[in-house]
Amino acid sequence: MFEKILIANRGEIALRIHRACREMGIKTVAVHSTADADAMHVRLADESVCIGPPAARDSYLNVPSILSAAAVTGADAIHPGVGFLSENAAFSDIVEAHGITFIGPAASHIQAMGDKITAKATMIELGVPCVPGSDGEVHDLDTARAEAERIGYPVLIKAAAGGGGRGMKVADTPDELEEAFTMARREAGAAFGNASVYMERYLGNPRHIEIPIAADNHGNVIHLGERDCSIQRRHQKVVEEAPSPALDPAERERIGKRAVDAIKSMGYRSLGTFEFLYENGEFFFIEMNTRLQVEHPITEAITGIDLVRLQIQIAAGAKLPITQEEVTFSGHAIECRITAEDPITFQPRPGRVTDYHAPGGLGVRVDSALYGGYAVPPHYDSLIAKLIVHGANRQEALMRLKRSLDEFVIDGLPTTIPLHQRLMKERAFLDGDYSIRWLEQDFLGS
Ligand code: ADP
Repeated sequence: MFEKILIANRGEIALRIHRACREMGIKTVAVHSTADADAMHVRLADESVCIGPPAARDSYLNVPSILSAAAVTGADAIHPGVGFLSENAAFSDIVEAHGITFIGPAASHIQAMGDKITAKATMIELGVPCVPGSDGEVHDLDTARAEAERIGYPVLIKAAAGGGGRGMKVADTPDELEEAFTMARREAGAAFGNASVYMERYLGNPRHIEIPIAADNHGNVIHLGERDCSIQRRHQKVVEEAPSPALDPAERERIGKRAVDAIKSMGYRSLGTFEFLYENGEFFFIEMNTRLQVEHPITEAITGIDLVRLQIQIAAGAKLPITQEEVTFSGHAIECRITAEDPITFQPRPGRVTDYHAPGGLGVRVDSALYGGYAVPPHYDSLIAKLIVHGANRQEALMRLKRSLDEFVIDGLPTTIPLHQRLMKERAFLDGDYSIRWLEQDFLGS
């Protein structure tokens, strides 16, 4: 097992990884920008190294600085967390070339799944159902027109290197195609330095259902049920729950097995997640994430498995400690992503936390790096806390969520807690009757 892990991240996820390491008796190294000198992940780690100025490109994305920090502290592994360098194949290659273990999949898999065109082509070959779409990259407008006619309107133009819902544009009719195509390419080029795009049929009312998997170096693979992440704004997840109110055990088993078979054929190792759209009883693959996910705690709640510990064990060469038959699902879990944003306009509003009280009690977990007096810096993602509840059933989870939101105090800056409180009163949400469009079209739009 590793003796010392450098955590190349910040905020709640850095803390989450630190906690798993601490429980495993592994020392931790925090890295931080000058803006994060007072951050909780820095305070709790065994050692910390400043890796640069506030801008992420100069600090949390600064590969030479991070490698120097690992060398100076003698870390034998690096955990990239989520975001930042977690899906950067070149980073994982460089880390391994320095004799340090990258806690994640092989660089070749990060590379292949990071390009969504290659990812889809791989899945089609492996018999995983995908959203009908273009045959690979669409280079010019004439091809886009021909492909759109073949696929059928409305169509979605998507960035091959996409992430975070960026570089995605809908064309409802042929008239809208040129603008959507041009805008998607421009946005993709600006956001990812790669303007390649592809096309998909734009599904009307699907749910976003994803299947997390874990695979070791010895050919063992398990799936961990599903997560329903359909409550979204701007194609970004706001609330997630497990299991999905829309799936039955037979469907879960069917899609879980598909994912496991695909992973076995790929020879993939580590944690990963297959993201699907689910409509009229059919699954359509959209992408695979080759890292830990923000919403992993709801899977931990219903399976009782510490996914970060498992990920570290796999990276150290251990065999999966459980078989598929031993994975059991218990109760229902829901996660609310709380951000430092205005709950009406969604404008980021970083600031100083003047008072902080996290809810607690049976079945309540808060993953957050906040504390009273902490100043949320303006340079990074606005996620400041994840509230995760677990109950014997969905009803109990909802009751717990409602009272936990009422108990949560984050004073000094606006947060999206009021948005979540409003959601808790909505019939459609309470009934689990929603698609990926519901939040924006019916709830926020109303
Ligand atoms: P990103 O990597 O940017 O998150 P994804 O491919 O994972 O992009 O898609 C994010 C979200 O965008 C999905 O959860 C869904 O809400 C929406 N989306 C993606 N593809 C389609 C599609 N073909 N039809 C309808 N909605 C889609």
